[in-house]
Amino acid sequence: MEPIKNPDVKYTKLFINNEFVDAVNGKTFPTLNPVNEEKIVDIQAADKDDIDVAVAAAKEAFKRGSVWRTMDASARGELIYKLAELVKRDIVYLASLETLDNGKPFMFAMGDMQASINVLKYHAGIADKINGKTIPVDGDNFCYTRREPFGVCGCIIPWNFPAMMFVYKIAPALATGNTIVIKPAEQTPLSALYLAALIKEAGFPPGVVNVVPGFGPTAGAAISSHPEIRKIAFTGSTMVGKKVMEAAAQSNLKKVTLELGGKSPLIIMPDANVDEALAVSHMGVFYNMGQVCIASSRLFVHEDIYDDFVRKSVELAKKKCVGDPFDLKMQAGPQVNEIQMKKILELIESGKQQGARLQCGGSRFGDKGYFVQPTVFSDVKEDMRIYKEEIFGPVQSIIKFKTTEEVIEMANNTTYGLAAGVFTKDINTYQTIVNALEAGFVWVNQYLNSGAQAPFGGYKMSGIGRERGEEGVHEYTQVKTIFVKQPKCAK
Ligand code: ADP
Repeated sequence: MEPIKNPDVKYTKLFINNEFVDAVNGKTFPTLNPVNEEKIVDIQAADKDDIDVAVAAAKEAFKRGSVWRTMDASARGELIYKLAELVKRDIVYLASLETLDNGKPFMFAMGDMQASINVLKYHAGIADKINGKTIPVDGDNFCYTRREPFGVCGCIIPWNFPAMMFVYKIAPALATGNTIVIKPAEQTPLSALYLAALIKEAGFPPGVVNVVPGFGPTAGAAISSHPEIRKIAFTGSTMVGKKVMEAAAQSNLKKVTLELGGKSPLIIMPDANVDEALAVSHMGVFYNMGQVCIASSRLFVHEDIYDDFVRKSVELAKKKCVGDPFDLKMQAGPQVNEIQMKKILELIESGKQQGARLQCGGSRFGDKGYFVQPTVFSDVKEDMRIYKEEIFGPVQSIIKFKTTEEVIEMANNTTYGLAAGVFTKDINTYQTIVNALEAGFVWVNQYLNSGAQAPFGGYKMSGIGRERGEEGVHEYTQVKTIFVKQPKCAK
């Protein structure tokens, strides 16, 4: 499948009430091409006033008796399915737009779009299968529950998987009958605006989905503190997640779900299939240039296989083709922007200073665009910043361990708890480790794979709530319990 190398940008305005409109104050911001640092296009910048307009539209769309509110759940499912088909129809264009705006290799962008289609279809199917319960209570009572939507949901998403994150948020919200105000990341607004046009084409009523590109401290803060938004779903850094939760609490105690950072351990036991573990641990941290919240950014390798594993990991990193993400031969593109590139380079520097052994990479790649060399550190220790802090870049940190007990302690020695992995052939070892790890998602003899049906989310400071699967759907509903008096003879 060939990419469209210069995809036309069709939409640059806010999407409110199924129309593309200018921001109230007319301000714009540029979105840049991370390959050459040049402006792609100016985007209308939402601010507080625009969030008010978008929330009013979403509130109107949710009004009692509205088309959306009275639509059968199965019909909502059909609309979501239609959207999935439109994404499929335009998959090459959407993936090309994503590559242009974000810098990820085209085939990765295609993978994101396929995952988005899968997630849409899952939620299309589940829309009319969201049941309450009947509960056998004491006395002359009949008790049942309904899972009801919140109303207007606010969503704030990051730049590492722009279209996918957009879909992960809107799909469960739509399946459950909510309406939405969603802010894409300021670095990558293009695919979300195109998806907005597809939402209209699919036939969703006006105001059901509103897309408001803009900055965090303005548009994002206005969403998290809006008194009419009843639920907020945020994906991004732990630091901003705390701000969102604080604003949610201060304003109207809106329900909060957070998907935050990670420092995920991947453990390679001495009996592991080394070839598979090598390839998987490489992808685990270098996929999407390391800009993945679940990146296996702490690789624990048993001392019996350590030296060999480090040597082969370095070979893999050195072989990586870095360059133009539209070139199908390339396995890595640039980081998303200059801020991220500099942050990664600064953390690499700290690794060198604190005594980790730099095995390869360690600098910027070229002098144009935000490229960073694939970097491998060995001899990483628990007191180093590269052990503790999320790098969000192409940096593999390898740590030596001796015993199962020791590696469990080390793996859990983090404030995060998003994901983890273990490679072993021993069923007892794997169960011991899996059950001991403080993480919301654990892989065994693999890493990164996932599915629309599988719930995902963090322990500890990696988040609150789950996305995807039935658990993810339930995050967009609140339970109403109904107690009905019934005659004695009905018992
Ligand atoms: P990253 O560090 O990966 O860019 P952030 O957590 O800064 O991640 O950003 C994720 C999303 O949060 C983006 O859409 C961004 O605009 C938004 N954001 C940033 N600051 C705030 C804030 N104070 N309130 C609400 N949203 C914010």
